[in-house]
Amino acid sequence: MCAAVVAALSSMSLAFAEGLPDLGESSQNELPPQMERKIGEEAMNEIRFREPAYLDDVEVNGYLTRLVGRMATHLDGARPNFDVFALRDPMLNAFAMPGGFIGVHSALILAAQSESELASVLAHEMSHVTQHHLARSIAPQQQAQTASMLAMAVAILAARSRPDLAMGAAVSGQAAAVQSQLSYTRDFEREADRIGLALLERSNFDIRGMGDFFSRMEKFGRLYENNAPAYLRTHPLTTERITDMENRIQVRPYRQVADSLDFLLVKAKLKAQEGSADEAVTGFSSLLTEGKYRSEAAVRYGLARAYLRANNVPAAEKEVQALRRLKVGNTMVETLAADVARQQGDAEGALRILRNARAKAKQERAISYALIELLLETRQAEEALRVVNEEVQSYTTDDKFYLFQARAHEALGHNFLQHRAIAQAYLLRGQVAAAVEQLELAQKAQDGDFYEHSQADAKLRELQAQLIAEERKKRR
Ligand SMILES: [Zn+2]
Repeated sequence: MCAAVVAALSSMSLAFAEGLPDLGESSQNELPPQMERKIGEEAMNEIRFREPAYLDDVEVNGYLTRLVGRMATHLDGARPNFDVFALRDPMLNAFAMPGGFIGVHSALILAAQSESELASVLAHEMSHVTQHHLARSIAPQQQAQTASMLAMAVAILAARSRPDLAMGAAVSGQAAAVQSQLSYTRDFEREADRIGLALLERSNFDIRGMGDFFSRMEKFGRLYENNAPAYLRTHPLTTERITDMENRIQVRPYRQVADSLDFLLVKAKLKAQEGSADEAVTGFSSLLTEGKYRSEAAVRYGLARAYLRANNVPAAEKEVQALRRLKVGNTMVETLAADVARQQGDAEGALRILRNARAKAKQERAISYALIELLLETRQAEEALRVVNEEVQSYTTDDKFYLFQARAHEALGHNFLQHRAIAQAYLLRGQVAAAVEQLELAQKAQDGDFYEHSQADAKLRELQAQLIAEERKKRR
């Protein structure tokens, strides 16, 4: 992880500075992969529920995760499940947590001038994950700590571009001790560069993206000196690293890679949220009038989003019409069109758009979220339940779908199933005690069949035993 680098910069061990950054396979210090995933999951939950900068946007995060997933198919050996998410943050930064969780700051996405540039940073982060750098930086004596404690240390470090949050969090002495160990050596950085570059090339991106982006960031860093973007502080971007990279890139053939429309739309969506709503409207309008764009669709999409922010719904509607004329087949345009219809008070129109979009792209979560939400709002709980029950088959670990399911059951008067669904959502968030409470409520419910009740009872006993065991462990 790059955010996890902490004091590493100033105290970076010069003893490691020489020699090839080939760190070999695994070391005996390595944490088992299940432990890494558990630490990552818990740290992720910390960030999702406590970090105000977390960008809860399934379109942005879904795009980033797909981009990384595409590169992951070119990995040799074991492929971790990557989950990528964005944080609303003006610092150029990205970081990887154990188990495949990667965070990217919105400013870094906006600063990327091509999809290959964004992919180059992600490939570097993926390499930190596949090489288990963070786990390898935890000293053996600290590995005996519980996953929760390690996760806490990781999560706080991930938020370190926001010192207010890190300071506000109760960092135990133990967590602080772990934190002081989590650091990337210069060798880890060079290894992530080397492996990331190879991955970028195998994934058919323009590898020059890495050199271009990293040199621009280095200049940016020099400009700000001590105030360097967090990305640079956490991944010490030395001249040596850049020269190294450029030497490798120069001998490779040039390759022109077109940006995907998804990349351009995601950038436009983030840009539309920057500054004031009026500034966003002005920004996109002038791009459009001056004709300074690579994709008219992306500019019109951004302009429509900016108009929605400014509560100018008729102007947003005009941009949606223009997008329709451009025949842009993209689900982000469909969710935008539905948002516009909704804000015009046309719930039926919005439902029509979402139902059609879902029929075409069933696996697109943004469409399903919006459809289920609107069905629940318009008291069409049966259809909502039908949609959500299909989705939980594919997205078994998405707590949001279980919360939707609970709301649909509640609207239909299914008491047992409502509490069982909430319990499932809490479990996925790692909140076992809250899940136990919900299962106790489910137990008391008058409805639900015998089979469902006995299953829930068994789960309840299992979780109660788990809580007792954890309590004992803590006391020791
Ligand atoms: Zn790094």
